[in-house]
Amino acid sequence: MLCSILKPLLIKAAIIRDFHSAKSTQVLKFFTCASCAERVRHEKLCDRLVSDVSLDILKNSAVMDPDTPATVPPVLYMDGPLAGALVDPAGIHQNEDGSLSLSLCPSCKSAS
Ligand SMILES: [Zn+2]
Repeated sequence: MLCSILKPLLIKAAIIRDFHSAKSTQVLKFFTCASCAERVRHEKLCDRLVSDVSLDILKNSAVMDPDTPATVPPVLYMDGPLAGALVDPAGIHQNEDGSLSLSLCPSCKSAS
């Protein structure tokens, strides 16, 4: 008898717990990948120092050429470590020591 009363209460408690964990702010938090600009769940965030990432693949050398037609996507950084790199500024963060980090999704992290 007691078991038949407790079982629905335990199931209800489990459903409520699962609902709260699925709707927590941490689970619903997203970030923007600096490389592909996709919005990705925060739990998949891979922070990498700019100095540890090969940015050659993200750089568009044509942008640095003054004769380049305006059809080239604009780059935000014309000097510094991100010069000429096609990156989303939402995925770039300055650390307390002044260094720059890129927020990368797992796919872009494995490609860097
Ligand atoms: Zn990415």
